[in-house]
Amino acid sequence: MSARILVVDDIEANRRLMQAKLEARYYSVALVSNGEAALKHATAEQPDIILLDIMMPGMDGFEVCRRLKSNLATRHIPVVMLTALTDIDDRLRGLEAGADDFLSKPIEDFALFARLEALMRYNLVADELRSRGASTNRPEHFSDFEQEVINRPSNILVIDQDDQNATRIVGALEAIGHTAQNWKDANASGLKFKGLDLVLLALSGQKHDALKLCAHLRTLRESKDFSIVVTCDPEDQHLGVEALRIGAYDIIYTPLDMLELQARVRTQTRRKRYIDILRRRVDRGLELSLVDHLTGLYNRRHMLERLQLWMRRSANSGKPVSIAAFDIDHFKAINDAHGHEAGDQVLKAFAERLRTNIRPKDIACRPGGEEFLIIMPETAADMAAVGAERIRHAIGSRPFRLERWDVEVSVTVSAGIASHYGEDGLLADLLHQADLALYLAKQNGRNRIERRAA
Ligand code: GH3
Ligand code: MG
Ligand code: MG
Repeated sequence: MSARILVVDDIEANRRLMQAKLEARYYSVALVSNGEAALKHATAEQPDIILLDIMMPGMDGFEVCRRLKSNLATRHIPVVMLTALTDIDDRLRGLEAGADDFLSKPIEDFALFARLEALMRYNLVADELRSRGASTNRPEHFSDFEQEVINRPSNILVIDQDDQNATRIVGALEAIGHTAQNWKDANASGLKFKGLDLVLLALSGQKHDALKLCAHLRTLRESKDFSIVVTCDPEDQHLGVEALRIGAYDIIYTPLDMLELQARVRTQTRRKRYIDILRRRVDRGLELSLVDHLTGLYNRRHMLERLQLWMRRSANSGKPVSIAAFDIDHFKAINDAHGHEAGDQVLKAFAERLRTNIRPKDIACRPGGEEFLIIMPETAADMAAVGAERIRHAIGSRPFRLERWDVEVSVTVSAGIASHYGEDGLLADLLHQADLALYLAKQNGRNRIERRAA
């Protein structure tokens, strides 16, 4: 598998060395020497993988990684950080910055190519799904709900005949919130592969044929749902290579560094979940986009997901969540007077005014037509009413100027507020209450706010 790899390192000798190694394996390589250049290159050239040095003058690797991961155009590109072997802190900081993987300096060929192969396998699936599912070329991004799914703890099966090892690994994984099972115990109670995210399989020092077991795991029907990560002694490299060929996703050297193990399990789980979500979206034929094309506000689908999430959080925290459903008054008249296209411009300008008059934590959505909805997390009904009033005033206080038509259009808006307090409740009910309040606002003369408790 070939790939386009961007190497970011401030030291020329390091860059050249990496280039030689990679090109010998037919990877195509681009080199840059600083963070700014890396960001520019990543956006413009969309490399398949980025190898990123940490210590660089100016913008360091953590910052580069953070920026790559917060930019929609580059966040899908896997980033491998190059850390000093001894520096555990660096790895943790790297994870926080969103790094996908790590390599310890001095970089050993086998580890390097195992990592690249694993990432390429993942890229291949992700690209394929993306191209089948995306109706646009924009890189998809995840809703809060999906993000939450991606970050959920992992369910892991540990297969190592050295019981002391297995117990230590299970302990380390459970310590960071995963569910982990020792194969021996799981076997006694009837081995189940359903719901499993990851199998950690020891290759070295086993009495059974671990490679055969690896191949067998790959034939299981459930095996498309879990990934296999093998551990092996550096002396047993040939076993590792064979395991990757059979279908293991990644390889970790023994003696195991528990922090490295935790980091790899985390990235492996996230990758698998990411693929799962893409696959599910493709299966359901869903639009990958979350935003409405005309206004750039969140669309209906995303609105429902976010609202569901905040209602669930409310049930846990006891803090209320409110919504304000807006509907432009007599919008049809605007279309009739100036044409549909002018109407669209009003919707765009309306959305802009909405956006600039909400608080940072509020979420502005356009569920459809001339209807808008603001989700107000951790906000009670009376505060929501204040916010809605501010918006109503911002809309009605000065007309919208449409340059192209050389007209000014006065617009007013009505809104209905509903709130959800802690207890379990249905999304549909909350939306219905807001609709009823909105209906009341229209009935009571428009250009006003009404509210209902849900
Ligand atoms: P009310 O005060 O009762 O809400 O009156 P209204 O005219 O706003 O309500 P109605 O629901 O009867 O009409 C909404 C109009 O909005 C009808 C439809 O053509 C127009 N509309 C819906 N979506 C769009 C759009 O994307 N662009 C434009 N230009 N018009 C739209
Ligand atoms: Mg309407
Ligand atoms: Mg209307």
